[in-house]
Amino acid sequence: MANLRRIYRPGESQPLDEAIVLPMRGPRSYTGEDTVEFQTHGSPAVLEELLRTCYQLGARPAEPGEFTFRALMAGKLSLLQAEAVRDLVDASSAEELTLARRSFFGDMEAPFRSALEAITNAAASLEAPLDFPEQFSEEDERKSLRDARDSAQQAMDLVQSLLADAENTARLYRGVTVVITGSPNVGKSSLMNALLKYPRVIVSDIPGTTRDVVTAEILIGDRRVTLVDTAGIGAAPADRLDALARDQAQRAVADADVAIVVLDAVTGLLPHERLLLESARSHPHIVAVNKVDVEPVSPDLAAEVGEPVLGISATAGTEIEALTAQLAGLIEAAADAVTIRQLVTQRQASELSTAHQALDSFLRQVASEPADTLAELLGEAREALLRLLGERLSPDEILSTVFRTFCIGK
Ligand code: GDP
Repeated sequence: MANLRRIYRPGESQPLDEAIVLPMRGPRSYTGEDTVEFQTHGSPAVLEELLRTCYQLGARPAEPGEFTFRALMAGKLSLLQAEAVRDLVDASSAEELTLARRSFFGDMEAPFRSALEAITNAAASLEAPLDFPEQFSEEDERKSLRDARDSAQQAMDLVQSLLADAENTARLYRGVTVVITGSPNVGKSSLMNALLKYPRVIVSDIPGTTRDVVTAEILIGDRRVTLVDTAGIGAAPADRLDALARDQAQRAVADADVAIVVLDAVTGLLPHERLLLESARSHPHIVAVNKVDVEPVSPDLAAEVGEPVLGISATAGTEIEALTAQLAGLIEAAADAVTIRQLVTQRQASELSTAHQALDSFLRQVASEPADTLAELLGEAREALLRLLGERLSPDEILSTVFRTFCIGK
Protein backbone atom coordinates (compact mmCIF):
# COMPACT_ATOMS: atom_id res chain seq x y z
CA MET A 1 0.00 0.00 0.00
CA ALA A 2 1.21 3.50 -0.77
CA ASN A 3 1.38 5.63 2.40
CA LEU A 4 1.65 9.41 2.57
CA ARG A 5 3.95 10.08 5.51
CA ARG A 6 6.02 12.81 7.10
CA ILE A 7 9.64 11.87 7.45
CA TYR A 8 11.48 12.93 10.61
CA ARG A 9 15.11 12.68 11.55
CA PRO A 10 15.47 10.80 14.85
CA GLY A 11 14.98 13.23 17.77
CA GLU A 12 13.81 16.15 15.63
CA SER A 13 10.34 17.66 15.66
CA GLN A 14 10.64 19.46 12.27
CA PRO A 15 9.86 17.04 9.42
CA LEU A 16 12.54 16.49 6.84
CA ASP A 17 9.95 16.06 4.08
CA GLU A 18 6.57 14.64 3.25
CA ALA A 19 6.80 11.57 1.05
CA ILE A 20 5.03 8.55 -0.37
CA VAL A 21 6.41 5.48 1.34
CA LEU A 22 6.03 2.20 -0.51
CA PRO A 23 6.83 -0.93 1.45
CA MET A 24 7.35 -4.04 -0.69
CA ARG A 25 7.33 -7.21 1.33
CA GLY A 26 9.59 -10.10 0.43
CA PRO A 27 9.49 -12.39 -1.38
CA ARG A 28 7.29 -10.30 -3.69
CA SER A 29 9.86 -7.58 -4.32
CA TYR A 30 12.62 -7.18 -6.94
CA THR A 31 15.34 -8.53 -4.64
CA GLY A 32 13.03 -10.92 -2.79
CA GLU A 33 13.77 -9.03 0.46
CA ASP A 34 11.62 -6.54 2.38
CA THR A 35 12.17 -3.26 0.59
CA VAL A 36 10.94 0.25 1.17
CA GLU A 37 10.87 3.01 -1.40
CA PHE A 38 10.60 6.70 -0.51
CA GLN A 39 9.14 9.08 -3.08
CA THR A 40 10.19 12.48 -1.79
CA HIS A 41 10.24 15.92 -3.29
CA GLY A 42 13.02 15.62 -5.81
CA SER A 43 15.40 18.37 -4.80
CA PRO A 44 19.00 17.17 -4.48
CA ALA A 45 19.13 18.81 -0.99
CA VAL A 46 16.16 16.75 0.28
CA LEU A 47 17.59 13.54 -1.23
CA GLU A 48 20.99 14.24 0.25
CA GLU A 49 19.53 14.79 3.78
CA LEU A 50 17.30 11.75 3.57
CA LEU A 51 20.16 9.53 2.39
CA ARG A 52 22.49 10.88 5.07
CA THR A 53 19.84 10.10 7.70
CA CYS A 54 19.46 6.55 6.35
CA TYR A 55 23.23 6.05 6.45
CA GLN A 56 23.36 7.32 10.05
CA LEU A 57 20.73 4.72 10.90
CA GLY A 58 22.90 1.93 9.46
CA ALA A 59 22.04 1.77 5.73
CA ARG A 60 24.71 2.01 3.04
CA PRO A 61 24.62 2.88 -0.66
CA ALA A 62 24.15 -0.11 -3.00
CA GLU A 63 27.09 -1.33 -5.07
CA PRO A 64 26.73 -1.22 -8.88
CA GLY A 65 24.18 -3.85 -9.87
CA GLU A 66 23.60 -4.90 -6.24
CA PHE A 67 19.80 -4.91 -6.48
CA THR A 68 19.91 -7.23 -9.48
CA PHE A 69 22.65 -9.32 -7.84
CA ARG A 70 20.44 -9.79 -4.77
CA ALA A 71 17.52 -10.71 -7.04
CA LEU A 72 19.75 -13.33 -8.70
CA MET A 73 20.89 -14.72 -5.35
CA ALA A 74 17.24 -14.97 -4.25
CA GLY A 75 16.48 -17.03 -7.38
CA LYS A 76 14.29 -14.30 -8.90
CA LEU A 77 16.37 -14.09 -12.08
CA SER A 78 18.84 -16.26 -13.97
CA LEU A 79 22.33 -14.94 -14.70
CA LEU A 80 21.39 -14.43 -18.36
CA GLN A 81 18.29 -12.46 -17.37
CA ALA A 82 20.43 -10.31 -15.08
CA GLU A 83 22.68 -9.56 -18.05
CA ALA A 84 19.56 -8.75 -20.08
CA VAL A 85 18.55 -6.22 -17.38
CA ARG A 86 21.89 -4.49 -17.92
CA ASP A 87 21.40 -4.53 -21.71
CA LEU A 88 17.92 -3.05 -21.23
CA VAL A 89 19.25 -0.30 -18.96
CA ASP A 90 22.16 0.47 -21.30
CA ALA A 91 20.20 0.34 -24.60
CA SER A 92 20.78 3.57 -26.51
CA SER A 93 19.03 2.91 -29.82
CA ALA A 94 15.73 1.33 -30.87
CA GLU A 95 17.49 -1.75 -32.26
CA GLU A 96 19.45 -2.32 -29.05
CA LEU A 97 16.23 -1.91 -27.10
CA THR A 98 14.33 -4.43 -29.28
CA LEU A 99 17.09 -7.01 -28.87
CA ALA A 100 17.46 -6.38 -25.13
CA ARG A 101 13.70 -6.80 -24.69
CA ARG A 102 13.84 -10.03 -26.68
CA SER A 103 16.55 -11.28 -24.29
CA PHE A 104 14.73 -10.12 -21.18
CA PHE A 105 11.26 -11.41 -22.02
CA GLY A 106 12.19 -14.32 -24.27
CA ASP A 107 13.87 -17.64 -23.64
CA MET A 108 17.44 -16.65 -24.46
CA GLU A 109 18.79 -19.65 -22.53
CA ALA A 110 17.27 -22.09 -25.03
CA PRO A 111 20.11 -22.20 -27.63
CA PHE A 112 22.76 -22.47 -24.86
CA ARG A 113 20.77 -25.27 -23.21
CA SER A 114 20.44 -27.07 -26.59
CA ALA A 115 24.22 -26.92 -27.04
CA LEU A 116 24.71 -28.20 -23.50
CA GLU A 117 22.27 -31.03 -24.14
CA ALA A 118 24.07 -32.03 -27.34
CA ILE A 119 27.38 -32.15 -25.43
CA THR A 120 25.78 -34.24 -22.69
CA ASN A 121 24.43 -36.63 -25.34
CA ALA A 122 27.88 -36.87 -26.93
CA ALA A 123 29.42 -37.69 -23.54
CA ALA A 124 26.73 -40.31 -22.83
CA SER A 125 27.32 -42.04 -26.20
CA LEU A 126 31.07 -41.94 -25.68
CA GLU A 127 31.01 -43.27 -22.16
CA ALA A 128 28.37 -46.02 -22.41
CA PRO A 129 30.82 -48.64 -23.77
CA LEU A 130 33.33 -47.68 -21.05
CA ASP A 131 30.79 -48.21 -18.29
CA PHE A 132 29.34 -51.45 -19.62
CA PRO A 133 32.12 -53.03 -21.71
CA GLU A 134 30.64 -56.55 -21.59
CA GLN A 135 27.40 -55.42 -23.29
CA PHE A 136 29.10 -53.69 -26.25
CA SER A 137 30.38 -55.44 -29.35
CA GLU A 138 33.05 -53.77 -31.49
CA GLU A 139 30.34 -52.76 -33.93
CA ASP A 140 28.32 -51.20 -31.04
CA GLU A 141 31.42 -49.30 -29.96
CA ARG A 142 31.93 -47.88 -33.43
CA LYS A 143 28.30 -46.81 -33.52
CA SER A 144 28.60 -45.15 -30.10
CA LEU A 145 31.60 -43.20 -31.32
CA ARG A 146 29.70 -42.12 -34.45
CA ASP A 147 26.75 -40.98 -32.29
CA ALA A 148 29.13 -39.06 -30.04
CA ARG A 149 30.67 -37.34 -33.04
CA ASP A 150 27.25 -36.42 -34.48
CA SER A 151 26.09 -34.93 -31.19
CA ALA A 152 29.36 -33.02 -30.78
CA GLN A 153 28.99 -31.67 -34.32
CA GLN A 154 25.47 -30.54 -33.49
CA ALA A 155 26.79 -28.74 -30.40
CA MET A 156 29.56 -27.22 -32.50
CA ASP A 157 27.06 -25.83 -35.04
CA LEU A 158 25.04 -24.19 -32.25
CA VAL A 159 28.14 -22.76 -30.58
CA GLN A 160 29.36 -21.38 -33.91
CA SER A 161 26.09 -19.64 -34.66
CA LEU A 162 26.04 -18.14 -31.14
CA LEU A 163 29.63 -16.94 -31.65
CA ALA A 164 28.49 -15.24 -34.87
CA ASP A 165 25.78 -13.51 -32.83
CA ALA A 166 28.42 -12.48 -30.30
CA GLU A 167 30.48 -10.87 -33.04
CA ASN A 168 27.45 -9.05 -34.38
CA THR A 169 26.49 -7.93 -30.87
CA ALA A 170 29.95 -6.40 -30.44
CA ARG A 171 29.47 -4.69 -33.81
CA LEU A 172 26.07 -3.38 -32.80
CA TYR A 173 27.49 -1.83 -29.61
CA ARG A 174 30.47 -0.42 -31.48
CA GLY A 175 27.99 1.09 -33.88
CA VAL A 176 28.61 1.85 -37.51
CA THR A 177 31.98 3.54 -37.94
CA VAL A 178 32.15 6.56 -40.21
CA VAL A 179 35.66 7.75 -40.98
CA ILE A 180 36.44 11.27 -42.21
CA THR A 181 39.53 11.27 -44.38
CA GLY A 182 41.36 13.74 -46.62
CA SER A 183 44.46 15.90 -46.96
CA PRO A 184 45.62 18.11 -44.10
CA ASN A 185 43.64 21.34 -43.74
CA VAL A 186 40.73 20.48 -46.04
CA GLY A 187 38.34 20.88 -43.08
CA LYS A 188 37.94 17.35 -41.70
CA SER A 189 37.81 18.46 -38.07
CA SER A 190 35.45 21.32 -38.94
CA LEU A 191 33.17 18.81 -40.65
CA MET A 192 33.27 16.49 -37.66
CA ASN A 193 32.28 19.42 -35.44
CA ALA A 194 29.50 20.40 -37.84
CA LEU A 195 28.15 16.82 -37.72
CA LEU A 196 28.41 16.73 -33.95
CA LYS A 197 27.01 20.24 -33.68
CA TYR A 198 29.52 21.09 -30.97
CA PRO A 199 33.29 21.61 -31.06
CA ARG A 200 34.75 18.24 -30.08
CA VAL A 201 37.90 18.59 -32.17
CA ILE A 202 40.35 21.47 -32.11
CA VAL A 203 40.17 23.25 -35.44
CA SER A 204 43.20 25.21 -36.51
CA ASP A 205 44.76 26.45 -39.73
CA ILE A 206 48.12 24.83 -38.96
CA PRO A 207 48.11 21.65 -41.10
CA GLY A 208 48.32 18.44 -39.07
CA THR A 209 46.67 19.59 -35.84
CA THR A 210 44.71 16.36 -35.55
CA ARG A 211 47.60 13.95 -34.89
CA ASP A 212 45.62 11.15 -33.38
CA VAL A 213 42.45 9.52 -34.44
CA VAL A 214 39.60 11.32 -32.66
CA THR A 215 36.32 9.52 -32.18
CA ALA A 216 32.89 10.61 -31.01
CA GLU A 217 29.56 8.81 -30.74
CA ILE A 218 26.37 10.19 -32.19
CA LEU A 219 22.96 8.90 -33.18
CA ILE A 220 22.19 9.34 -36.88
CA GLY A 221 18.66 8.25 -37.69
CA ASP A 222 18.24 5.57 -35.11
CA ARG A 223 21.75 4.20 -35.25
CA ARG A 224 24.65 4.48 -32.89
CA VAL A 225 27.44 5.89 -35.04
CA THR A 226 31.10 6.31 -34.20
CA LEU A 227 32.58 9.23 -36.11
CA VAL A 228 36.31 9.00 -36.62
CA ASP A 229 38.37 12.06 -37.51
CA THR A 230 41.79 11.16 -38.82
CA ALA A 231 45.09 12.94 -39.24
CA GLY A 232 45.35 14.40 -42.73
CA ILE A 233 47.02 12.22 -45.32
CA GLY A 234 49.33 14.52 -47.28
CA ALA A 235 51.51 13.94 -50.35
CA ALA A 236 54.48 12.61 -48.35
CA PRO A 237 55.11 12.24 -44.61
CA ALA A 238 56.88 15.26 -43.12
CA ASP A 239 58.61 13.30 -40.33
CA ARG A 240 58.39 10.01 -38.41
CA LEU A 241 55.51 11.19 -36.24
CA ASP A 242 53.64 12.25 -39.34
CA ALA A 243 54.35 8.86 -40.96
CA LEU A 244 52.88 7.12 -37.91
CA ALA A 245 49.80 9.36 -37.96
CA ARG A 246 49.30 8.57 -41.68
CA ASP A 247 49.54 4.83 -41.01
CA GLN A 248 46.97 5.19 -38.28
CA ALA A 249 44.71 7.24 -40.54
CA GLN A 250 44.96 4.67 -43.34
CA ARG A 251 44.13 1.86 -40.92
CA ALA A 252 41.12 3.83 -39.65
CA VAL A 253 39.85 4.10 -43.22
CA ALA A 254 40.37 0.38 -43.82
CA ASP A 255 38.51 -0.54 -40.60
CA ALA A 256 35.55 1.80 -41.10
CA ASP A 257 32.11 0.83 -42.43
CA VAL A 258 31.53 4.13 -44.24
CA ALA A 259 33.99 6.82 -45.42
CA ILE A 260 33.65 10.53 -46.11
CA VAL A 261 36.46 11.78 -48.34
CA VAL A 262 36.87 15.52 -47.90
CA LEU A 263 38.39 17.53 -50.76
CA ASP A 264 39.08 21.28 -50.83
CA ALA A 265 37.22 23.38 -53.44
CA VAL A 266 40.02 25.96 -53.31
CA THR A 267 43.00 23.65 -53.98
CA GLY A 268 41.15 21.26 -56.31
CA LEU A 269 42.05 17.58 -56.59
CA LEU A 270 45.70 16.97 -55.59
CA PRO A 271 47.58 14.03 -57.15
CA HIS A 272 47.89 12.02 -53.92
CA GLU A 273 44.16 12.48 -53.27
CA ARG A 274 43.45 10.10 -56.16
CA LEU A 275 44.96 7.32 -54.03
CA LEU A 276 42.79 8.36 -51.09
CA LEU A 277 39.72 8.15 -53.32
CA GLU A 278 40.84 4.72 -54.52
CA SER A 279 41.12 3.35 -50.97
CA ALA A 280 37.74 4.81 -49.99
CA ARG A 281 36.03 3.20 -53.01
CA SER A 282 36.17 -0.21 -51.35
CA HIS A 283 33.64 1.19 -48.81
CA PRO A 284 30.24 2.86 -49.07
CA HIS A 285 31.45 6.46 -49.26
CA ILE A 286 30.65 10.11 -49.95
CA VAL A 287 32.97 12.59 -51.64
CA ALA A 288 32.44 16.01 -50.04
CA VAL A 289 34.07 19.09 -51.53
CA ASN A 290 34.48 21.58 -48.69
CA LYS A 291 34.80 25.37 -48.55
CA VAL A 292 32.17 26.12 -51.21
CA ASP A 293 31.57 29.38 -49.28
CA VAL A 294 34.90 30.54 -50.77
CA GLU A 295 34.82 28.85 -54.13
CA PRO A 296 32.15 26.76 -55.90
CA VAL A 297 32.91 23.21 -56.99
CA SER A 298 34.52 23.51 -60.41
CA PRO A 299 33.16 21.22 -63.17
CA ASP A 300 36.77 20.07 -63.73
CA LEU A 301 37.06 18.86 -60.17
CA ALA A 302 33.77 16.96 -60.40
CA ALA A 303 34.92 15.35 -63.68
CA GLU A 304 38.34 14.45 -62.27
CA VAL A 305 36.78 12.72 -59.27
CA GLY A 306 34.65 10.66 -61.66
CA GLU A 307 31.66 10.24 -59.37
CA PRO A 308 29.04 12.53 -57.83
CA VAL A 309 30.46 14.99 -55.32
CA LEU A 310 28.61 17.05 -52.72
CA GLY A 311 29.69 20.67 -52.31
CA ILE A 312 29.61 21.66 -48.63
CA SER A 313 30.89 24.24 -46.21
CA ALA A 314 31.72 22.85 -42.80
CA THR A 315 32.09 26.29 -41.24
CA ALA A 316 29.11 27.99 -42.97
CA GLY A 317 26.90 24.90 -42.59
CA THR A 318 26.13 24.66 -46.32
CA GLU A 319 24.61 21.28 -47.33
CA ILE A 320 25.52 19.69 -43.98
CA GLU A 321 21.93 18.46 -43.75
CA ALA A 322 22.13 16.90 -47.22
CA LEU A 323 25.40 15.23 -46.19
CA THR A 324 23.79 13.89 -43.01
CA ALA A 325 20.86 12.52 -45.04
CA GLN A 326 23.18 10.75 -47.51
CA LEU A 327 25.18 9.44 -44.59
CA ALA A 328 22.03 8.12 -42.90
CA GLY A 329 21.25 6.10 -46.04
CA LEU A 330 24.72 4.52 -46.15
CA ILE A 331 24.62 3.82 -42.41
CA GLU A 332 21.24 2.07 -42.69
CA ALA A 333 22.58 -0.10 -45.49
CA ALA A 334 25.74 -0.97 -43.49
CA ALA A 335 23.75 -1.76 -40.33
CA ASP A 336 21.11 -3.77 -42.19
CA ALA A 337 23.78 -6.07 -43.54
CA VAL A 338 24.13 -7.43 -39.98
CA THR A 339 21.34 -9.56 -38.54
CA ILE A 340 21.38 -10.57 -34.91
CA ARG A 341 19.19 -13.35 -33.61
CA GLN A 342 20.07 -12.65 -30.02
CA LEU A 343 22.42 -10.50 -27.97
CA VAL A 344 25.44 -12.46 -26.79
CA THR A 345 27.55 -10.62 -24.22
CA GLN A 346 31.36 -10.56 -24.13
CA ARG A 347 31.36 -12.77 -21.05
CA GLN A 348 29.14 -15.33 -22.78
CA ALA A 349 31.32 -15.12 -25.90
CA SER A 350 34.46 -15.93 -23.95
CA GLU A 351 32.86 -19.10 -22.49
CA LEU A 352 31.58 -20.00 -25.97
CA SER A 353 35.13 -19.72 -27.33
CA THR A 354 36.37 -22.12 -24.67
CA ALA A 355 33.60 -24.58 -25.59
CA HIS A 356 34.38 -24.09 -29.28
CA GLN A 357 38.06 -24.92 -28.78
CA ALA A 358 37.30 -28.08 -26.81
CA LEU A 359 34.69 -29.27 -29.33
CA ASP A 360 37.03 -28.54 -32.21
CA SER A 361 39.78 -30.65 -30.61
CA PHE A 362 37.24 -33.40 -29.93
CA LEU A 363 36.05 -33.48 -33.54
CA ARG A 364 39.58 -33.52 -34.91
CA GLN A 365 40.76 -36.29 -32.54
CA VAL A 366 37.64 -38.42 -32.32
CA ALA A 367 39.05 -41.12 -34.60
CA SER A 368 42.53 -41.22 -33.08
CA GLU A 369 42.48 -40.50 -29.35
CA PRO A 370 41.44 -42.82 -26.51
CA ALA A 371 37.93 -42.37 -25.06
CA ASP A 372 39.10 -40.85 -21.75
CA THR A 373 40.97 -38.03 -23.54
CA LEU A 374 37.88 -37.39 -25.65
CA ALA A 375 35.63 -37.42 -22.58
CA GLU A 376 37.87 -34.81 -20.98
CA LEU A 377 37.42 -32.48 -23.96
CA LEU A 378 33.64 -32.84 -23.80
CA GLY A 379 33.88 -32.14 -20.06
CA GLU A 380 35.72 -28.86 -20.77
CA ALA A 381 33.05 -27.78 -23.28
CA ARG A 382 30.31 -28.69 -20.81
CA GLU A 383 31.91 -26.76 -17.93
CA ALA A 384 32.25 -23.67 -20.13
CA LEU A 385 28.54 -23.74 -20.97
CA LEU A 386 27.59 -24.30 -17.35
CA ARG A 387 29.72 -21.29 -16.34
CA LEU A 388 28.01 -19.33 -19.10
CA LEU A 389 24.62 -20.18 -17.61
CA GLY A 390 25.90 -19.19 -14.16
CA GLU A 391 25.72 -22.69 -12.77
CA ARG A 392 29.39 -23.08 -11.95
CA LEU A 393 30.15 -19.59 -10.68
CA SER A 394 30.55 -18.56 -7.05
CA PRO A 395 28.72 -15.40 -5.88
CA ASP A 396 32.09 -13.61 -5.86
CA GLU A 397 32.79 -14.58 -9.46
CA ILE A 398 29.33 -13.47 -10.51
CA LEU A 399 29.83 -10.16 -8.74
CA SER A 400 33.18 -9.52 -10.34
CA THR A 401 32.43 -10.73 -13.87
CA VAL A 402 28.89 -9.52 -14.39
CA PHE A 403 27.82 -6.91 -11.90
CA ARG A 404 30.82 -4.64 -11.94
CA THR A 405 29.59 -3.48 -15.37
CA PHE A 406 26.21 -2.37 -13.99
CA CYS A 407 25.35 1.19 -13.03
CA ILE A 408 24.88 2.05 -9.40
CA GLY A 409 21.33 1.61 -8.15
CA LYS A 410 20.22 -1.03 -10.67
P1 GDP B 1 41.62 19.41 -41.10
O1 GDP B 1 43.10 19.55 -40.99
O2 GDP B 1 41.24 18.77 -42.39
O3 GDP B 1 40.96 18.76 -39.93
O4 GDP B 1 41.04 20.92 -41.24
P2 GDP B 1 40.39 21.87 -40.14
O5 GDP B 1 39.00 21.48 -39.87
O6 GDP B 1 41.33 22.01 -39.01
O7 GDP B 1 40.31 23.21 -41.01
C1 GDP B 1 41.44 23.80 -41.58
C2 GDP B 1 41.16 25.27 -41.86
O8 GDP B 1 40.15 25.38 -42.86
C3 GDP B 1 40.65 26.05 -40.65
O9 GDP B 1 41.18 27.32 -40.67
C4 GDP B 1 39.15 26.08 -40.86
O10 GDP B 1 38.54 27.19 -40.25
C5 GDP B 1 39.08 26.18 -42.38
N1 GDP B 1 37.83 25.65 -42.89
C6 GDP B 1 37.28 24.44 -42.64
N2 GDP B 1 36.10 24.30 -43.27
C7 GDP B 1 35.90 25.46 -43.96
C8 GDP B 1 34.85 25.92 -44.82
O11 GDP B 1 33.84 25.26 -45.09
N3 GDP B 1 35.01 27.15 -45.35
C9 GDP B 1 36.09 27.93 -45.07
N4 GDP B 1 36.15 29.12 -45.63
N5 GDP B 1 37.08 27.52 -44.28
C10 GDP B 1 36.99 26.31 -43.72
